[in-house]
Amino acid sequence: MKMFARSAFRAAQPLKRNLISRSYATEPAKGGSSNTLLYTLGAVGVAGAGYYFFASPSAKDSVAAKAKEAASGPPKKAFTGGDQGFISLLLKDVQIINHNTKKFIFHLPEDDQVSGMAVASALLTKYQYEGQKPVVRPYTPTSDEDTKGFIELVVKKYPNGPMSTHLHDMVPGQRLDFKGPLPKYPWTANKHDHIALIAGGTGITPMYQLARAIFKNPDDKTKVTLVFGNVSEEDILLKREFEDLENTYPNRFRAFYVLDSPPKEWTGAKGYITKDLLKTVLPEPKNENIKVFVCGPPGLYKAISGTKVSPTDQGELSGILKELGYSKDQVYKF
Ligand SMILES: Cc1cc2nc3c(=O)[nH]c(=O)nc-3n(C[C@H](O)[C@H](O)[C@H](O)COP(=O)(O)OP(=O)(O)OC[C@H]3O[C@@H](n4cnc5c(N)ncnc54)[C@H](O)[C@@H]3O)c2cc1C
Repeated sequence: MKMFARSAFRAAQPLKRNLISRSYATEPAKGGSSNTLLYTLGAVGVAGAGYYFFASPSAKDSVAAKAKEAASGPPKKAFTGGDQGFISLLLKDVQIINHNTKKFIFHLPEDDQVSGMAVASALLTKYQYEGQKPVVRPYTPTSDEDTKGFIELVVKKYPNGPMSTHLHDMVPGQRLDFKGPLPKYPWTANKHDHIALIAGGTGITPMYQLARAIFKNPDDKTKVTLVFGNVSEEDILLKREFEDLENTYPNRFRAFYVLDSPPKEWTGAKGYITKDLLKTVLPEPKNENIKVFVCGPPGLYKAISGTKVSPTDQGELSGILKELGYSKDQVYKF
């Protein structure tokens, strides 16, 4: 099965260069078989692809976890929201990801606790430099919601950014205050038939949380299209994780990478995320049950969707998505 997945993926790769069509060969009947969820791949044969979740260890793990949970009750949660204040977490390990990004692994207060994160949600971090107002910033853990005992954050350092600089200066054994979960877009299986994730830089972490939750749930048949813009190839975070998804679910997950400064041999899109690219790869606005998620630096929001006014006010839709005919309701800004 794995071999089939890989060969189908290899066959599909060259088409990415020509921006494969956003339409599927056969649109799925509601709750229908995954065999019908085939992208239009021209002559490329990927038929017979109903295997996907059987090949996925995370799906099996999820079923096993559910069975265990039924027997022993739900796991304890570190973050419960509501009146719960900030919790101080111990930094266990730091790993360098690239020239400006590190992974931080924080212990949860108890080894048998899960984070308590809902999908989609974030955690708030707080740090106070001496004599200054506290700095509070949201981060989306990249660790699975079922992981016990720790959370992982992938954080990019901004030269004058107070929280990212503080985190990058931290060493194992130090502590940081966290609070949450901070609810974002509540996901339930098959809430939409097809979602698009448009991300820039570290804006990928909420998208990864959503995609991971969808593909680890065998009942969830949602199709996912990712458009991910970065400066250079080494800036593409979580690439291996997304490649794994693309290999395992070639008929339900597609990723398009756009680089501002690509290497010579780059075959993907170049420059910024453009209207032409989005028109080609996103589900069309006339499709009834789609959603387009946007997360990234301020410039990305401005160009793609318009900025969010506040955590509770999504603001008006503008930019490329509006020009392409999407409605405000079809777009969610993280
Ligand atoms: C829901 C949500 C989840 C997030 N998850 C993550 C995550 O997992 N990892 C991570 O590294 N960041 C994440 N962020 C961004 C994070 O909250 C901070 O904005 C970022 O770390 C910069 O904080 P700072 O205090 O260092 O700098 P700030 O003073 O806040 O900003 C420094 C500079 O960076 C720009 N900037 C701010 N945010 C971004 C951004 N997201 N992308 C590009 N430029 C930006 C600002 O315009 C400014 O020029 C998330 C943001 C949101 C809303």
